[in-house]
Amino acid sequence: MNTDSDCLFCKISSGVIPADVITESNSAIAFRDIDPKAPTHVLVISREHFSDVDELTASDPNLAGELLTLAASVAKIEGLGTGYRIVTNIGQDAGQSVPHVHFHVLGGRSLAWPPG
Ligand code: AMP
Repeated sequence: MNTDSDCLFCKISSGVIPADVITESNSAIAFRDIDPKAPTHVLVISREHFSDVDELTASDPNLAGELLTLAASVAKIEGLGTGYRIVTNIGQDAGQSVPHVHFHVLGGRSLAWPPG
């Protein structure tokens, strides 16, 4: 499995940096965002290092499906029965700040669309 010892989310996946973990599997982990934008704001990441969803889907589309499945589990665990949003940022113009693929799971309040 490819990991990057300089990557923040690889360090969270391996437990070097602590996180508030909601649920996890052999291939993915879900933990609370340190700067939440909604009452529930959880990040779902792969344990293997991919810079973004483009790189992930090109290399391992099944794993992309596993991340979305884990995101749906997060919504159930968090009781987001009235709706939630899954977002992934890819690259500079989208404002991606951590270059390790992650899905944001946002909910617990009414979410405006389009986002600002
Ligand atoms: P993005 O801007 O889409 O790359 O999202 C990166 C997210 O990672 C931001 O929402 C940050 O608040 C979040 N983040 C950064 N450092 C940590 C950390 N140590 N633990 C949890 N979330 C973090």
